Amino acid sequence: MRYDESPPLPESRSSISPDRPWFARRPALTVALAALAPTCLAGWVLAQVLTGPGADGRQPEGPSLTASHATGSTDAKSSASPSPAQVPAHSPAPGADAQAPTAAKGPLAGRTVVIDPGHNTGNFQHGSEINKLVDVGTHRKECDTTGTTTNSGYKEAEFTLDVSRRARALLEAKGVKVVFTHEADRPWGPCIDERARIGNEAAADAVVSVHADGVSAGNRGFHVILPALVKGGAADTAKIVGPSRDLGERIARNFGRTTGSAPANYLGSGTGLVVRDDLGGLNLSTRPKVFLECGNMRDAKDAAQLMSPEWRQKAAQGIADGIVGFLGG
Ligand code: ZN
Repeated sequence: MRYDESPPLPESRSSISPDRPWFARRPALTVALAALAPTCLAGWVLAQVLTGPGADGRQPEGPSLTASHATGSTDAKSSASPSPAQVPAHSPAPGADAQAPTAAKGPLAGRTVVIDPGHNTGNFQHGSEINKLVDVGTHRKECDTTGTTTNSGYKEAEFTLDVSRRARALLEAKGVKVVFTHEADRPWGPCIDERARIGNEAAADAVVSVHADGVSAGNRGFHVILPALVKGGAADTAKIVGPSRDLGERIARNFGRTTGSAPANYLGSGTGLVVRDDLGGLNLSTRPKVFLECGNMRDAKDAAQLMSPEWRQKAAQGIADGIVGFLGG
């Protein structure tokens, strides 16, 4: 894969360390932190003496459990679904099962959803990497794109990550295991073929790629993009066309209801549904998958909605409700 010719990336998202390249470029700071380490260690030892090894006896969580939530979270996220690493060491449950935080409860426990926050805010600084072509089965295509922005500079990639996090919180509250393709925990990407692969390898029951469009003002509304029937190379959507349409119709219906937005007035003939055969993220998927374009960032009225946290919560609710309905929850 051309992807492998890119600068070294962490082998997996779960072990990623957002700070790694940052530290690597700042040896002086590393020295300073090293100098602080004894102080921190002394403080830790003192804390252990005073409080014991953690009320629940849980071992410190490794980076694999913290990385996916390490880059900040929405209020909804932090209140609805604390990760194991967020559970305080003084949690009042001395006899609690150490596995409890990872044992999902809820009507959809055991189901997996992959959410793909479109683009990456770092893509703007990595043109050469994201412009490399990758094989999407039917043809070759750029690894990724920068995404669009509102006229005031709010990035699509910021929007997609925020909405994705909100949707994750709602889905996790139902017991769903949610996997992200990235969480701004890498400098750019992933490439579109890797985004598809993450959904495939997670054996996701549903995959949703979150986007916002960037077309001329006056074009408004949302639309869901469904995979066309394609076959070529690694691309074969025969098995996902049907279930993806079901997923997409449910998301469109619920998204319209929760946000009050209308289906796009510039494509899809008012249905809010569009079928495309040129998106590698769909062509390479073996799991039911759709893209959602939540609105047009270049239209002032749509942009005002997209920049509203309250509206984004409604958007996330519509996405989550559509997925939950698809999963039978
Ligand atoms: Zn996009």
